[in-house]
Amino acid sequence: MFTSLLRRVLQPKKIIQTSRRNLFASQQLFSPTKSDNLPEHSDEVLHAPLYMFTEEETMMKETVAKLAKDKIEPLVREMDEKSQMDPSVIKALFENGLMGIEIDAEYGGTHSTFFSSILVIEELARVDPAVSVCCDVQNTVVNALLLNYGNQEQKQKYLPRLATDMIGSFCLSEAESGSDAFALKTSAVKVGEDYVINGNKMWITNAEHAGVFLVMANAKPTEGYKGITCFIVDRETDGVTIGKKEDKLGIRASSTCPVHFDHVKVPESNIVGTFGHGYKYAISMLNEGRIGIGAQMLGLAEGCIDHVIPYTMERKQFGRSIWNYQAMQHQIAEVQTKIEAAKLLIYNAARLKEAGMPFVKEASMAKYFASEVASVTTSKCIEWMGGVGFTKDYPVEKYYRDCKIGTIYEGTTNIQLNTIAKCIAQERQG
Ligand SMILES: Cc1cc2nc3c(=O)[nH]c(=O)nc-3n(C[C@H](O)[C@H](O)[C@H](O)COP(=O)(O)OP(=O)(O)OC[C@H]3O[C@@H](n4cnc5c(N)ncnc54)[C@H](O)[C@@H]3O)c2cc1C
Repeated sequence: MFTSLLRRVLQPKKIIQTSRRNLFASQQLFSPTKSDNLPEHSDEVLHAPLYMFTEEETMMKETVAKLAKDKIEPLVREMDEKSQMDPSVIKALFENGLMGIEIDAEYGGTHSTFFSSILVIEELARVDPAVSVCCDVQNTVVNALLLNYGNQEQKQKYLPRLATDMIGSFCLSEAESGSDAFALKTSAVKVGEDYVINGNKMWITNAEHAGVFLVMANAKPTEGYKGITCFIVDRETDGVTIGKKEDKLGIRASSTCPVHFDHVKVPESNIVGTFGHGYKYAISMLNEGRIGIGAQMLGLAEGCIDHVIPYTMERKQFGRSIWNYQAMQHQIAEVQTKIEAAKLLIYNAARLKEAGMPFVKEASMAKYFASEVASVTTSKCIEWMGGVGFTKDYPVEKYYRDCKIGTIYEGTTNIQLNTIAKCIAQERQG
């Protein structure tokens, strides 16, 4: 039913241009993708509420919500128990154009926008945050890295596959380098026309199914982190092995594995962008990616509270529904307000990014805040359901387990706060 629906709907450029025009007063005055063409005054921009979506975004959101309900929801519990993504889910993500949202139509992608990706990630997370992160990493990190920094040949080779049938993974973290990511030890040594990569990556999302890895390795350690270079490594390359999947607290259906590189030989042409610029690309992708993780946490909180409010209205104690107690209403109102605030932070960061404006501080704020809100929401939701909230008969305990990762990956909460503080200092000191 959904096969290629999004692609069919989204491909005509006219829809995209028309909808972007709806948001921005004039294409000439305000090109959403070029930072050198920004308006000098805000009155040159039509002020749309953050909730106002383009026709394309609305369609994307509604289609994905239906897909998640029909095709993913029935499998969520089993996938969580087995710690295994059902192949039909991955197939559905590809068939509906959700794994190549920003990839141009000429490469077989959906040719949509970053903001659409954010809405997709949010909608998927309402139903299953594990499926959501699979889609998130593919779009906001792997595809984005190749779209932004890959050369024509690399784009031609990989983007059509990433849009239609191949998962990619982003390999930065190692056992000894997590928050301090650029202390990584994986090396790349030039031998003739090739580079030989040695090292062990940890915590690699989607590694179980990935066909390609974007690997950060240091090719010139004498330059410190400025030797870090990004290499494309195909899964089938000799010397690549995927380690045992982690047995995790939450997002269990999403695979997280170590990936080992033992004398892995890749041609120089597999370097993405400029030699020694890997650290810049990693920072830039994680800055974008954080908005995606914020959206995952937002969708998770929304999905969780959606299950619980109707329960509080039906459940009776002391002769009336527990919703009718003001103590309950105030708590729910408070949490719902926090969810709303997280949503606005995320949508604003995404719109800033799309407009080519600075968004690093806002992305960190969005990710930090949304993961805190997801923790509070899921914890409160269990309390509001009482004993049954604590059982696996309801999905609430799963949201509670799933939300914890929001404070860890793509930069822990402390690292987000460090970034926010750094941005504040820069703003204050000029
Ligand atoms: C499920 C999952 C999926 C992941 N997916 C990927 C992936 O696809 N690709 C990838 O490359 N990585 C991935 N990661 C790795 C993830 O990004 C790291 O786990 C994360 O950056 C934290 O690093 P760490 O685990 O080594 O913790 P550490 O860096 O050891 O941090 C431990 C604690 O110390 C604190 N801390 C560290 N430094 C500071 C500081 N300077 N100031 C204040 N506090 C500090 C942290 O906030 C944290 O509370 C994933 C991790 C998980 C768990």
